[in-house]
Amino acid sequence: MGEILTPGFTGGLLDRADAMRHDDSALATAMGNWQARLLSLHHWEPEVTDDGRLGWTMLTEAPDDAEFVLLGLDNGRPRFAAILAGQGAPPPFRSPTLFHTLDRLRPGEAATFATARSLLDWHARHGFCARCGTATAIFRAGWGRKCPNCDAEHFPRTDPVVIMIAEHDGRALIGRQPSFPAGRYSALAGFLEPGESIEEAVRREIGEEAGVEVGAVRYVASQPWPFPSQLMIACIGQAVTDQITLDTNELEDAKWISRGDVLAVLAGTGDAFIAPPPYAIAHTLLHAWAHELA
Ligand SMILES: [Zn+2]
Repeated sequence: MGEILTPGFTGGLLDRADAMRHDDSALATAMGNWQARLLSLHHWEPEVTDDGRLGWTMLTEAPDDAEFVLLGLDNGRPRFAAILAGQGAPPPFRSPTLFHTLDRLRPGEAATFATARSLLDWHARHGFCARCGTATAIFRAGWGRKCPNCDAEHFPRTDPVVIMIAEHDGRALIGRQPSFPAGRYSALAGFLEPGESIEEAVRREIGEEAGVEVGAVRYVASQPWPFPSQLMIACIGQAVTDQITLDTNELEDAKWISRGDVLAVLAGTGDAFIAPPPYAIAHTLLHAWAHELA
């Protein structure tokens, strides 16, 4: 019974205020608004209040050469993030403190952080035109960069990733990567390749990583994943066979797990494996499958 759990990093509370991105005078007014606030980040990590909200500061707290990205409006109050000159890109891995921080953030607040983190990361890594190599400049309130030499417009990327379990005879296929904490198993995952549909990517990834042939594929839910900018697309694939042939370059182990074992693990009463954290969509996916919601 129940409903599919809301995936982490979704349910954002800000009005994205697209019209303001195209209106320089409205943007200038918003920046001068006494209620305007700047997302407080320290080394790319958010400040979190005791009640799970993001910390904010005044725009004047940013260095003089900072540039501002309009995250949106919170009940009409402008919310920004700052691009800091010379900061470079965030580290490719989340720090242990960020894991802890994400556990404490309220869901809608985590969505605002995810938006800011992905946007700022994109700016940090796209300072030069991909067409002609000239340094680009921020435009559309931080939702794009433009080349002053060839006029090419560049927009933030979102990279689709399929994340899925296969199911066979009441069991789900889960796997673990060598980098996972001890005991952790999760859904399999991989980037979509050019020229591929979601269903084709699900079948290819399960085939490559676990050697399991999959027929029908159904969509369950999606989530933005801001490390740095993936869109995780959660699916369930109907396995034709249950013989596992592991690709040990990708996975350390993969196994079939019963619905009862997944239910027990999610309820905190089972020890068949350690589930992914609640903000990961693999958690949403396993919950939906175990409770037969998808
Ligand atoms: Zn250019």
